[in-house]
Amino acid sequence: MTWLTNFVLPKIRAVVSKRSVPGNLWNKCPGCEQMLFHRELEANLDVCRNCGYHHRIGAMRRLEILFDDGVFSRIELPKTIADPLRFRDRRRYTDRLREAQSLRGPGSDAVVVAHGRIDGHAAVVAAFDFGFMGGSMGVAAGEAVVTAAKLAILQEAALIAVPASGGARMQEGALSLMQMARTIIAADMVKEAGLPYIVLLTDPTTGGVSASFAMIGDITLAEPGATIGFAGARVIEETIREKLPEGFQRAEYLLEHGMIDLVVPRAQLRPMIGRLLGLLRDTPPPILPPALALPTPEPA
Ligand SMILES: [Zn+2]
Repeated sequence: MTWLTNFVLPKIRAVVSKRSVPGNLWNKCPGCEQMLFHRELEANLDVCRNCGYHHRIGAMRRLEILFDDGVFSRIELPKTIADPLRFRDRRRYTDRLREAQSLRGPGSDAVVVAHGRIDGHAAVVAAFDFGFMGGSMGVAAGEAVVTAAKLAILQEAALIAVPASGGARMQEGALSLMQMARTIIAADMVKEAGLPYIVLLTDPTTGGVSASFAMIGDITLAEPGATIGFAGARVIEETIREKLPEGFQRAEYLLEHGMIDLVVPRAQLRPMIGRLLGLLRDTPPPILPPALALPTPEPA
């Protein structure tokens, strides 16, 4: 039996485990509870083919979807102080940061900034990653938005902010709240330079992020079904002691009540942003080929 248990069994287990199906091959759709094949979901921009539910996506995937041909240049962001308050709850803040960074590279934080072209228009995008500590905005995220604004001005490009955030990063206390003012100033700098500032609200945009730069876009777009609000629905219900209406804090509800301009499905985001930039930037008309150009009148 020893030979069987010590030699044969481990071999069999090794073979079986290698062939086992990886857990991430299928995703359960939170919208319709159907099992979706991972590759198929990815090919459909992480939108459920069955019910149209827009799954949350990371910042890099967001940039790929927004920029023409998925081509963009990511920029290095200024280094900021990592743990200004030496904060510790059940775990050290530095440990939480390190864990989040282990998946996205050392020094990374919740915002990724990149520049490229959207439907041919020069654009700088600041995209939040909800997977990084709930997309919370601390000093590093604030600095990223400011850097994106400065880059947009330098390149005379449009600034597109794509929040996906639970709000301010509590581990940085008042310093995280200061980022609300800083990011508003950053957005204003872009506006003062006469450049378009478009916000694309994605699921979820809440707390300090929804109460700052995310709500002051020249044009505010949102993805279908995105949760957008300041405080959570449960907290509001408990405070006002009233039942909230159906669809409260959803993108469609906000559109109906005039809080946002458009709800745009993910597949139409790039052409829609491109179209808006074309209208806002007053771009010169395309140069016609010689055969189609009007003949120039002869001088008299
Ligand atoms: Zn679905």
